[in-house]
Amino acid sequence: MTSLRDNIGSMRAATLPAPGPIESSPLAMAEVPEPELGPGELLFTVDACAICRTDLQIAEGDIQPRKQPVVPGHQVVGRVVAAGPGVTGWAPGDRAGVAWLAGACGECGYCREGRENLCEEATFTGWDRDGGFAERMTAHADYAIPLPLDADPISLAPLLCGGVIGYRSLRVSGIQPGQRLGLYGFGASARLAIQVALSWGCEVFVATRSEAEQQRARELGAAWTGGYDTPMPARLHAAVTFAPAGDVVISALKALAPGGTVAINAIHLDRIPGFDYDWLWRERSLKSVANFTRADAREFLDLAVTIPITTDPVSHRLTDVNEALRALKNGSLPGTGVLIPR
Ligand SMILES: [Zn+2]
Ligand SMILES: [Zn+2]
Repeated sequence: MTSLRDNIGSMRAATLPAPGPIESSPLAMAEVPEPELGPGELLFTVDACAICRTDLQIAEGDIQPRKQPVVPGHQVVGRVVAAGPGVTGWAPGDRAGVAWLAGACGECGYCREGRENLCEEATFTGWDRDGGFAERMTAHADYAIPLPLDADPISLAPLLCGGVIGYRSLRVSGIQPGQRLGLYGFGASARLAIQVALSWGCEVFVATRSEAEQQRARELGAAWTGGYDTPMPARLHAAVTFAPAGDVVISALKALAPGGTVAINAIHLDRIPGFDYDWLWRERSLKSVANFTRADAREFLDLAVTIPITTDPVSHRLTDVNEALRALKNGSLPGTGVLIPR
C-alpha cells in the first residue's frame, strides 16, 4: 500500500507518567517517538479527540492505567496515514474513528456470539494502549470505525464514547419505535440518546434533578420532564438510567410497565437499595450495560450522521489537556471537551 507518511520521527503527545490529582496536572506534554505500525494496524493523524470521564478517572488513578506512561484518549476522529501489513479495506486519506474497544480475542464464546464487549481478553484505547491525546496514534484496522470524508471531526468526536454507549443502552432496554421511553439523568450520553429515540418516533420522558437539564431536555424534544421521583403521566415501556445512583434505578423500575426493562448505564454503582418484589414482578427486568461492540459503534455512527445528531463540543488545544480535564471535573464545561492536537 502507498503511504502519505512525511516527517516520520517524533510527535507531540500528552502522556501520563503516573496518575495524580488533576489539580496537580498529571498529564505532561512530551515529544515522543511516533508509534510503530504493526501488522493489521493503521497509523492515523488525530484531528480531534473528545474527553470522557474515564480519561479523568485514569489520569487521577481511580482507574489504574494498564501501562505507564500511557497516552489517554478514546474518542478519536482522524485520518489514515499508513496501513500495516495485512490491512485491507482502508487507504491513506480515509477518515476514521477510534473508540474505547481496542481489541478482543476473537475466539472466546462471547466474541463468537458477537458479544465482544464481554470478552475477558478485551483491550481498551487510552488504557491498555496509547490513545488519542497525541498528534498521531495507531489502532487495529478491524476496530477502526469508517466515517464520511466530509465529516466534521470536532462535532463527531463526542459521539464516539457517550454516544455509542447511549445507543447500546437503548438497544439493551429493548425500546421499540413509537414506544414510551424514560431517561434518568441527562448528561452528555443521554443528550445523544434522546436524539436517537426521537428519530425512532419514541415519546421520551426525562427525569433529572437539574432544572437546567430539564430545560435542555425539553428543547431537544422531551414530552415530559421532572425530578427522579415525580410521578409520570404514563407508564414507561423501557428506561435507561445514566445517574450513578442506585436509588435512581429503583425510581425507574417503579415507573415501568409490566414486561419493561431498565438498562443501567453505569460502570460504578455503590449499591441498589432493597425494594418490594412487586416492582419487579410481571416480567420487568434490570440489566446493566457494559462497554460496546464494533457493530454498536458502526451502526450508531451511521445513524448519527443520517439523523443528524447534534453535539455540543467545546474545543481545547491539546496543550491545555490538564485544564480541560479540570473543567470536566468541576462541571464547568457547557458541553463535551474536545482536544485539538494542531
Ligand atoms: Zn469514554
Ligand atoms: Zn473474546
